[in-house]
Amino acid sequence: MIVVMRPTATQDEVDGVRRTVEENGLEAFISVGEERTVIGVVGKDLERVAHLGTLDGVEQVIRISSPYKLASSEHQVERTRVRINGVELGLGQELVVMAGPCAVESRDQLMETARCVKREGARVLRGGAFKPRTSPYSFQGLGLPALELLHEAHETYGLPVISEIVDPADVPAFEEHVDIIQVGARNMANFVLLKAVGQSRRPVLLKRGLSATIEEWLLAAEYILSAGNPNVILCERGIRTFETATRNTLDLSAVPVLRSRTHLPIIVDPSHGTGHRALVAPMALAGAAVGADGLIVEVHPDPANARSDGDQSLGFEEFGALMDELRRLQFVRTADAQPAQVSTATDVTGDIEDVRDRIDDIDARLAEMVQERAALALEVQRRREPDAHGHDVRRERALLERAASGTTGPMTPVELTMVFDALLRASRSVQRRHAHSVTEAEAAATGSGR
Ligand code: PEP
Ligand code: MN
Repeated sequence: MIVVMRPTATQDEVDGVRRTVEENGLEAFISVGEERTVIGVVGKDLERVAHLGTLDGVEQVIRISSPYKLASSEHQVERTRVRINGVELGLGQELVVMAGPCAVESRDQLMETARCVKREGARVLRGGAFKPRTSPYSFQGLGLPALELLHEAHETYGLPVISEIVDPADVPAFEEHVDIIQVGARNMANFVLLKAVGQSRRPVLLKRGLSATIEEWLLAAEYILSAGNPNVILCERGIRTFETATRNTLDLSAVPVLRSRTHLPIIVDPSHGTGHRALVAPMALAGAAVGADGLIVEVHPDPANARSDGDQSLGFEEFGALMDELRRLQFVRTADAQPAQVSTATDVTGDIEDVRDRIDDIDARLAEMVQERAALALEVQRRREPDAHGHDVRRERALLERAASGTTGPMTPVELTMVFDALLRASRSVQRRHAHSVTEAEAAATGSGR
């Protein structure tokens, strides 16, 4: 900390600052300049002299080290990895996708969603039990029964579960039923709640407050850390700005900023961050691209009839497509995507030219097979409704999953999936071209009949 004295400060005022510093167990280093005197203050507990700016003769006090000691990367260089019941979150780990409904509405709704998000590769199931809604007349969540349902979903599907706490008295119930306790944006500065979850053994996901600066957010994390809980995950979920086109302004620059300031893992919530279904996937991909350790996404079996946040919830197909894209870009490598057992081509004989001849032979056969496959895809297209074109997402996903499992060889499932993904794209473009030419032919026929 540096105390800058006014140019008019007297020797008595400089001595007054030095005395206060020393009386608080800190050291003062006085440097007398031509125009003014500055005093460097060092020691462990600078908070004790937070009032130096009010002393006579002081112009300003400049803090040099961060006020959040435990959250700061100044004091802990290695990054924190949070372990959640078999899932690890933190730098260097695979992107962890948390997904599920905004609110748990019923057993069926939760189980159906859990099944879907697990199949698509989510690693954590989300679901609100206590909903802090802006209006007291909106659905407030099912409460404790929802926590029990989350527990049941965890037992059935094996995914760790996360839910939001609003009352410090509920910590024991959360410890019993959930794997991660979420502190929502509206409670980021509820210091009683922060201290309560700080005493818990469960990891805590701390969302950024609606109008919190990054420093305020990190100080909120400091409350949890200083109460004894080292497992804090930060979640950027958008802040309030003048912009009304989105529900919030998703501050993705917070991710690299946090990277430079804290060792804690950081995830992005593109659902609350945008408020619009169509914007969720692009911002999820952007969040992954700026280096988030995870994403939390709202998914609902029937978003149009969701009891909360339906507008920003993805349906199952949309969520599947997002996961496909995250896999294609290699942010996500599903749990079963371990490198396949590498079988070495032991039956390869001959010199290098012989091996190359075999490769050429395979390529020729592959080209024929790919064309045969495209011809069949076109036949499917012809047998469909005349104006129906596009693709069957479910079948395509099943194909990609099949491709990613059950074969052995040097290619990893991810690499194999990339090959099939390219095949599907080409196939779709053949189908689209065909549909287009049919429409054009029909238009021409109608035109000539007139
Ligand atoms: C939520 O995750 O359901 C939620 C209410 O989020 P936030 O606290 O970010 O508004
Ligand atoms: Mn929500």
